[in-house]
Amino acid sequence: MIKSIIRFLLQIFPRPFLIRMSLLMNRFVAIFLIGNKVECPVCGGYFRKFLPYGYTKQTGRENALCPKCLSLERHRLMWLFLNDKTDFFKNKLKVLHIAPEQCFYKRFKALSNLDYTTADLESPIADVHFDVQEIPFKKESYDVVICNHVLEHVADDKKAMSEIYRVLKSNGFAILQVPMDTDNPNTMEDPSVTDPKERERLYRQKDHVRLYGLDYADRLKAVGFTVNASVYAEELNADLANKYRLPMNEIFYYNQKL
Ligand SMILES: [Zn+2]
Repeated sequence: MIKSIIRFLLQIFPRPFLIRMSLLMNRFVAIFLIGNKVECPVCGGYFRKFLPYGYTKQTGRENALCPKCLSLERHRLMWLFLNDKTDFFKNKLKVLHIAPEQCFYKRFKALSNLDYTTADLESPIADVHFDVQEIPFKKESYDVVICNHVLEHVADDKKAMSEIYRVLKSNGFAILQVPMDTDNPNTMEDPSVTDPKERERLYRQKDHVRLYGLDYADRLKAVGFTVNASVYAEELNADLANKYRLPMNEIFYYNQKL
C-alpha cells in the first residue's frame, strides 16, 4: 500500500519537490520522537525511540532506524568499533569504501584525517565504479577497505576477498560484514539456484547468491587475512548497548593484513 503511494508520488511530482517533502517529513518524525531513551553514536541524535525497519516479516523489527542519519543497528556497531578499536578517526589513512552506506559517506568524507574514496558498481554517488571481483587499483594502495553487505551478492566472493586483500597495505585492515546464519556452521550456496524466489527463500533476499554460515572467517583466512571475530556489543556496558540499540548477536570481523 505505502509502496504504491510512493510509486504514485514519484510519478507525478518532480524529484526536487519530493526531496524537500522528505526533509519536512524527517523534521516531523524527529519532533514526534523527541526524548532521550535511545542515542545514535553516528549522528549524536537522541530520541524516544528509533523507527521500525525491515522489508519482510522475518527481518522487520521495531526501534531500529535512526530518523536523523538513517543508521541501523549494524551501522552503529561498526561506528563504535572503529572508534574504540582502531585509529580510523585519528590517524592519516587512505580509505576505500565500497558500496558506501548513506549514514557514513558524508561523515567519512568530512574527516580531515582521511584520504577517502567511495566506489560502487554503478551508484552515481560513488567516486569510482568497478566490480569488486576486479579492483582497478595497484596492490598495497589503501590502509583501510570497508565493504559491507556486498559479498553475499557477488558470484566469486573468494576473488573479491583476494582483490580487497591485494589493494590493502600491510598492517591495513578491512571491514567486510555480511548477513549470516549463525546457527549454521557452513555457508549455503548453490550456483544452480538462480530463481529469485528460491534465492529469497534460501538466502533471505532475491539478489543474494549465498547465505554465510560460521565458516565465513575461514573464507577470509583462506585469502590471507588475519581475522579477529568478536561479539562486540557484548563487550560494552549493557545499558549503553541498549541505549544505542546494537545488534547483540552480531559477530564483528576485524580483518588485518599483517
Ligand atoms: Zn543517527
